[in-house]
Amino acid sequence: MNQNIPELYGSMIFSDKVMRNKLPKDMYKALRKTIENGTHLELDVANSVAVAMKEWAVENGATHYTHWFQPMTGFTAEKHDSFISPSGEGEVIMDFSGKELVKGEPDASSFPSGGLRATFEARGYTAWDPTSPAFIKDKTLYIPTAFCSYNGEVLDKKTPLLRSMEALNLQAVKMLKLLGNETVTRVSTTIGPEQEYFLVDKELYEQRKDLVFCGRTLLGAPAPKGQEMEDHYFGTLKPRVSAYMHDLDVELWKLGIPAKTKHNEVAPAQHELAPVFDTANIAVDHNQLTMEIMKKVAEKHGLVCLLHEKPFEGINGSGKHNNWSLITDDGVNLLNPGRTPAQNIQFLVFLMAVIKAVDDYADLMRISAASAGNDHRLGGNEAPPAIVSIFLGDELNAVLESIENDTYFGKQEKIQLDTGAHVLPHFTKDNTDRNRTSPFAFTGNKFEFRMLGSSASVSTPNIVLNTAVAEALAQFYQELEGTRPEDMEKAVHELLKRAIRKHKKVIFNGNGYSPEWVAEAEKRGLYNLVSTPECLPYFVKDRSVELFTKHHIFTKEEIFSRYEILLENYAKTICIEARTMTEMLTKDFLPALSAYSGEIADNASAKKALLPSLSTAAEERLVTELTEAYAAITDGLEELKDLTAKAAQAGDMKQAADICREELLVKMDALRGTADRAEALIPDCELPYPTYDRLLFSL
Ligand code: ADP
Ligand code: MG
Repeated sequence: MNQNIPELYGSMIFSDKVMRNKLPKDMYKALRKTIENGTHLELDVANSVAVAMKEWAVENGATHYTHWFQPMTGFTAEKHDSFISPSGEGEVIMDFSGKELVKGEPDASSFPSGGLRATFEARGYTAWDPTSPAFIKDKTLYIPTAFCSYNGEVLDKKTPLLRSMEALNLQAVKMLKLLGNETVTRVSTTIGPEQEYFLVDKELYEQRKDLVFCGRTLLGAPAPKGQEMEDHYFGTLKPRVSAYMHDLDVELWKLGIPAKTKHNEVAPAQHELAPVFDTANIAVDHNQLTMEIMKKVAEKHGLVCLLHEKPFEGINGSGKHNNWSLITDDGVNLLNPGRTPAQNIQFLVFLMAVIKAVDDYADLMRISAASAGNDHRLGGNEAPPAIVSIFLGDELNAVLESIENDTYFGKQEKIQLDTGAHVLPHFTKDNTDRNRTSPFAFTGNKFEFRMLGSSASVSTPNIVLNTAVAEALAQFYQELEGTRPEDMEKAVHELLKRAIRKHKKVIFNGNGYSPEWVAEAEKRGLYNLVSTPECLPYFVKDRSVELFTKHHIFTKEEIFSRYEILLENYAKTICIEARTMTEMLTKDFLPALSAYSGEIADNASAKKALLPSLSTAAEERLVTELTEAYAAITDGLEELKDLTAKAAQAGDMKQAADICREELLVKMDALRGTADRAEALIPDCELPYPTYDRLLFSL
């Protein structure tokens, strides 16, 4: 069937076009003003929007509405209410008011709050975010909202993101004005998140408790083939995968999510989807929805979409690349090097602000990508290292060098100049080779933050980045404030020079995967925070609290609560993994191992009974090996159970997380090693769950 894609695209969102058609003119104008400038929305406008929204939703088959929010679980939350309102005996009308649109009051007590909210203060509020379009899914009208507690403490991932966008807008516009730009009134952050994922057959998935409970395999010997042939990356799409991807695109397009690129990734069964970039807030909402719909569409195809950062040992895990830039309300990308020197000044100041931000707050950037799942990737030879550094490419590097050394930048020989003025170079879009090993790379007209895990919300890294860049711009502003316009170019040049000297340590254009870089980074004094429990304490340091409170992103209490939530999430994740491994080994693997070695022993005895001269040395060796593995796993399981209990009883969350990292995970690794070696000795038909061969190569 041929689908009219332009017609289908966005058909399930309360789009600008629908608004214009359904709303009285003055109401439409008032709503646009709120969306574009963040002005307060009057109740009469809200009422009018509610009527239009309900009408549109009902026309499109909706019976319910829900406030849709992003609590600290990392997932989205929803509670559906029907539109029905009794209007007489046995009769109802479909009703929806401005008040219901604007505010919801879900019980907040069962969402993670990190100790912010006592259980007796159960009430929470959701507040409509008119900047992100409402949409229809599963016969329900979804209204994107922010979520906070009864006392106004933030309990979600949207509110701080909106605040950070506002903080950055404020500082960026101030800076642009200072630099003589009189046209810009608003600066927005744009994001394009590239999403990696795995697809596995649903029937196979359901036979593995580790995949069902943890999203990753905790056991499993490697398949004879992994990714070494490099034949999967950009390879031809298999029919089942292609059909899935097509359906996924259509579902996303209906919701106005501009899914653009799709391809096979490096590991077998691994794929990627990237949308066209959008305003940060909308892109974050869209990425949450994308992850959800990826899973849902997979079910329809008898597949399961795995978003875990490390579903399989021995092959690449999945990440999410956060492409980030700044755009003015007159359409200029501030990270586009541009062609005229005036634009160049802007570009260089903003470029330098990003470099400074990432250098000054590298610890927070690292934290923004920290999770139990992502710890398996960062620092492995598949994802950027845990060290935050910036890749600029040869051309920009040369530009910064010329500023630092007062040399002229050009294609010709470098010429010394005696004055600092007029040295700001003219150059075009960076077109140097791509560097795939850098955690934070300049890619022509945007930065690409590559540390993020595939299952994470893209909100946190953008909160950190926006806030840190806002702070860098604020500091630059202070340095430049009061400069006369005719002296500005020289002052900017001097500022850039100082900033380059201070922050060039964070710039690294070499191979981020090499061991030499780890040593070099240490010499440069960069952080190398290899695990979640190691990096999280930096979140609650004074510097971090100062940054976030100064720009009104989080209060001190909110920071500490988030710290608790992150630690708790880490410890709980690993404890669930430990319990799942215990269960799989005890109930599935050990019985299979025992049965098989018994079978071999019986066979050997039978042979001996029949022909006493036959050698059963091979059987004896195998039975010995299996029996030793059985004993080692049984002993290891006792220790694993003790350690799981120890983590559960730890005095505080940091201690629990440390036990998980330093003891529990180590034990699990050792147990896995033993079990995987034994698995390789047992025939597939005797194993209690499907092996890597089938999981990775059956589609
Ligand atoms: P790659 O080679 O890394 O896959 P692409 O050019 O395909 O690079 O872009 C990757 C992502 O970057 C896409 O989602 C794209 O929309 C996004 N992107 C492009 N320009 C911008 C921008 N100005 N701001 C944010 N994201 C952007
Ligand atoms: Mg990319």
